[in-house]
Amino acid sequence: MSASPPIIIQVAVPSPLRRRFDYLPPKTGPVPQPGARVRVPFGRREVVGVVLQVGQHSDWPLARLKPVSAVLDGEPIIPDDLLSFLLWAADYYHHPVGEVIHTTLPVLLRRGQAPESEAGLAVWQLTDSGRQQSPDTLKRAVAQRRLLQALFGAPGGLDADQLAAVTPAWRAPLRAMEKKGWAARSRRDCLLPATGSDDALPLLNPAQQSAVAAILASLGGYQGFLLHGITGSGKTEVYLHAIDQVRAEGGQALILVPEIGLTPQLLGRFQRRFPVTIAVLHSGMNDSERLCAWGMARSGKAAIVIGTRSAVFTPMPALRLIVVDEEHDGSYKQQDGFRYSARDLAVVRASREGVPVVLGSATPSLESLNNARQGRYRVLELPDRTGCAVLPRVGLLDLRKLSLHDGLSPPLVDALRGRLARHEQSLIFINRRGFAPVWMCHDCGWLAPCSRCDARMTLHKRHQRLRCHHCGSEAAVPQTCPACASGNLHGLGEGTERVEEALQKMFPAARIERVDRDSTRRKGALEDKLRRIHAGEADILVGTQMLAKGHDFPNLTLVGVLNADQGLFGVDFRSGEQLFQRIVQVAGRAGRADKPGEVLIQTYHPDNPVFSALQQHDYQGYAQYVLEERQQAQFPPFSHFALLRAESPNAGIALGFVQQARRLGETLTINGQIMLGEPLASPMEKRAGRYRAQLLVMAPQRGALHDFLSRWLGLLEDEPVGRKVRWSLDVDPLDMY
Ligand code: ADP
Ligand code: ZN
Ligand code: ZN
Repeated sequence: MSASPPIIIQVAVPSPLRRRFDYLPPKTGPVPQPGARVRVPFGRREVVGVVLQVGQHSDWPLARLKPVSAVLDGEPIIPDDLLSFLLWAADYYHHPVGEVIHTTLPVLLRRGQAPESEAGLAVWQLTDSGRQQSPDTLKRAVAQRRLLQALFGAPGGLDADQLAAVTPAWRAPLRAMEKKGWAARSRRDCLLPATGSDDALPLLNPAQQSAVAAILASLGGYQGFLLHGITGSGKTEVYLHAIDQVRAEGGQALILVPEIGLTPQLLGRFQRRFPVTIAVLHSGMNDSERLCAWGMARSGKAAIVIGTRSAVFTPMPALRLIVVDEEHDGSYKQQDGFRYSARDLAVVRASREGVPVVLGSATPSLESLNNARQGRYRVLELPDRTGCAVLPRVGLLDLRKLSLHDGLSPPLVDALRGRLARHEQSLIFINRRGFAPVWMCHDCGWLAPCSRCDARMTLHKRHQRLRCHHCGSEAAVPQTCPACASGNLHGLGEGTERVEEALQKMFPAARIERVDRDSTRRKGALEDKLRRIHAGEADILVGTQMLAKGHDFPNLTLVGVLNADQGLFGVDFRSGEQLFQRIVQVAGRAGRADKPGEVLIQTYHPDNPVFSALQQHDYQGYAQYVLEERQQAQFPPFSHFALLRAESPNAGIALGFVQQARRLGETLTINGQIMLGEPLASPMEKRAGRYRAQLLVMAPQRGALHDFLSRWLGLLEDEPVGRKVRWSLDVDPLDMY
């Protein structure tokens, strides 16, 4: 008797297990295709998974396999090439494939909702008859009254998430309103609407022209480009021209931008240039909007997708070009769960799909510079600022010879005074929010600690609270010292709040705008501040990193950098590179238009090579110097790192696990190919109530590293100590702690 061979459906299931799961076809109906979602029994639950493969073999006895409970998609929702890209990424980062696919799908699809939103976003609006109702007649139907009021205020309609924000159980009352003919459902597409168009496009200068020509000549095949141009040299203009051509030929372009690079200004520029073709994807969107934008990209309705990190996973059937703006930016690296680098994956995706990728930056990462030196990327240089804008003059203020008041040195204060007199704007950059980073007893030296971290609490004077910036815990500000009962307690050091207060005292008439996470927590607060700054309603801006990117303030002519040295001696081998990048970014805010800018950097170490390179605007020279250092030390990009991290609420357990991991690793290392570091407590061992430890794995060759990691992870997963800790592996870690 011959039976036909069984059909085995391999499914990626959201689970921390590093494997795929086999199922039998559903009892009725067609066999699902790879890339389609299915509902499957998993343990005692049912979960939504994605079919990876349909085959005839399973390592498990057939009798133990369960059938798929339901097929959710008749057609695959993840196209073939995207699916194989996701599998590649799961392999490369040694992350469970089910979690990879799960985290890269819009939330509503993970929950099993149909991807119908390709037709647009479902919204509900009031009908004519609905608009004639008065909420007062609905005294007893509270939910309906609220919905009616909310819909009155939203002529464009509200989507499911917005309605849920009005009242969580909105569906039944809204259905009642639909029945009465008061509200109706329609669809709105979620592309950026048209706004006014640019009057005249700038004529490209010769460097821009040749950059655009090189990119266009490579359309149709893979090519990596490193577009290196100082801030204001016209990189964005190069992207816009290349994208224009792609779009004219019916292709799609994917633009990745850093978390805080996605400014209204940048979007506005794209929007004016390419009306009603742009879908935006970022973390601030609600789930319905996200799914809608995803659907517009997948159906090809959106010719252009602009998004942060996770947009690199957007399905785009006619993808022809990828741009990664500010490619050196740390926010491209996902720092938990599936720890991918969107920049690196953009390059991989481009090469797999045979399209060019443009990595743009004023301060390229050393990884990308090295790739360029090795001939893997072509370098496109934009050496000059556009128009008559010149580079800002960079001056160093030697703190060894100057006295500070609230963090400000006299020459900086004088420079500020000069700008105020000329009605020009200034920016004071300080990478610490709050009033003072430490609350200290001046009699015995006691420093207010965080009870959950190995860290100090930051004083927030306005709210009269101590806050830990590592775990978020808060405490009252003690007025007597818990150690010696003295009342001689003071805030030590300065943050944005203190500098703002000091400047306000010095310049009572100045309009000061503080921009940091605390002052922009309210929705719309950042936009309000930026608008005031642009409208000239601010004289001095005091801000953190948040102000460093993407903003173009034409009337800004002075940038002061207060605590530059903070980055000089970081625990991380990348801290110098990051310091340089950060200062160039803020410096780039000065003198963008016709007024020359000045940057004043306060430092105790004016002889450090970082600063002379900054003064000469010589990023290449500095990068060359650091690359040589890295080569001698055999640090990335000259070797490859993976970091094993572990944490536990109990002291010693995490360290015990990485020690055991090292022993297991030693049994697998091939001489010289893999180097295992010392098992160490993390630089800040206790954080948010957990003790952390880490182990670094280094290898000169990627192949050897990945081979080692696969075998090592197999052992770690079976290691009993591993069940007592939370552990994770970070391939190509950006932060070394
Ligand atoms: P980047 O992205 O390198 O910071 P942008 O593309 O934003 O530079 O250009 C900086 C400013 O110069 C923008 O206001 C832009 O409109 C303008 N610009 C860009 N290219 C040209 C050009 N060829 N001629 C005149 N102005 C230009
Ligand atoms: Zn004391
Ligand atoms: Zn803490």
